[in-house]
Amino acid sequence: MVHRITIIPGDGIGREVSLAARRCIDATGVKIEWDEQIAGQEALEKFGNVLPQETLDSIRRNKVAIKGPIITPIGKGFRSVNVQLRMSLNLYACVRPCKIYKGVRTNFRNVDLVVIRENTEDLYAGIEFPEGLERTKDLIKRIEALSGFTIRKDSAISIKPISISASKRIIKFAFDYALKNNRRKVTVVHKANIMKETDGLFLKVAQEVASEYSGRVEFESALVDNMCMQLVQKPELYDVLVLPNLYGDIISDLCAGLVGGLGVAPGANIGDDMALFEAVHGSAPKYAGLNKVNPTAMILSGVLMLRYIGEVDAGERLERAVAEVIMEGKNVTYDLKENRNDPTAVGTSQMADAIIAKLNS
Ligand code: NAD
Repeated sequence: MVHRITIIPGDGIGREVSLAARRCIDATGVKIEWDEQIAGQEALEKFGNVLPQETLDSIRRNKVAIKGPIITPIGKGFRSVNVQLRMSLNLYACVRPCKIYKGVRTNFRNVDLVVIRENTEDLYAGIEFPEGLERTKDLIKRIEALSGFTIRKDSAISIKPISISASKRIIKFAFDYALKNNRRKVTVVHKANIMKETDGLFLKVAQEVASEYSGRVEFESALVDNMCMQLVQKPELYDVLVLPNLYGDIISDLCAGLVGGLGVAPGANIGDDMALFEAVHGSAPKYAGLNKVNPTAMILSGVLMLRYIGEVDAGERLERAVAEVIMEGKNVTYDLKENRNDPTAVGTSQMADAIIAKLNS
């Protein structure tokens, strides 16, 4: 069977890491017809649009995509391509497995957890009102009238919607994921003691959904601030974490730090009938074009993709090849060396070559 898959190389280090991932995926022998599309900086220059319709159509048609990181300029007017993709394709579940591979530089042991982040609402919904505009002043007046609270006139406002339906969908996803992947516990993470309405609703829905899985998957809840401390002190206690969008974003990077850094943290954005795979890391512009950064996060995103399309054996083989190269510690990038300035560190493409050689050995 030939799989048709959209590939978006991305900006900055994107092209290097996605090419490395594509070569490793092809080396598994799985037959893939790549449908290359653009988004981000290149698309902006070519089409005047960071996310061309053609790219969206390709993903809708192929139902599976893998993408390199894309730059989001801070405060420059256009909306993050990454957020637009997740929203317009309704890829509501962001799945980020964090596991320590032997040989990775980390101060932690026994970390093997999965962060499941809601992808479509919360403060990420992009509903924002800039400081100083008439409509913002109008909104402030209305909120003051409705709530009885005073808001400073020189405020900007971001809106945080949390719905029953989206919360239910992501929490069910987390429990089903736990069952399917032999995970024992789901921890819902929130700040319901302060945001009683939004986070309170997320927690209430989680408690209701959890009761449907009682006896099959354990359930607990934790405050997000406490969770940060717990994860740094006792990460081995956690299994599957489910969080609203913003906390999910932050905790994902924290967990990437536990298992050796952004260079080794893969991810998937999953909807009901479509999925987009990408590393947790961004486009690291200062390393662009240097053939220096670690391709592992992108390659492991490829492993998640192979499993998703049913090529489970190829996924296992590729993951094993990555794990062996990391464990040997020879043909690895600078971030996986004991000393970051180690002159024996190899480049992005050479690490991919070593993984391919392992696959073929
Ligand atoms: P970043 O993840 O790009 O880089 C932060 C640092 O992490 C780098 O300087 C580097 O030291 C390290 N790092 C990242 N990837 C690595 C790799 N593969 N190997 C080794 N080290 C690696 O984060 P940033 O600098 O905050 O963001 C840069 C740009 O990327 C921004 O425009 C941001 O919006 C965007 N971004 C995109 C995505 C995405 O496309 N999904 C995700 C996060 C950030």
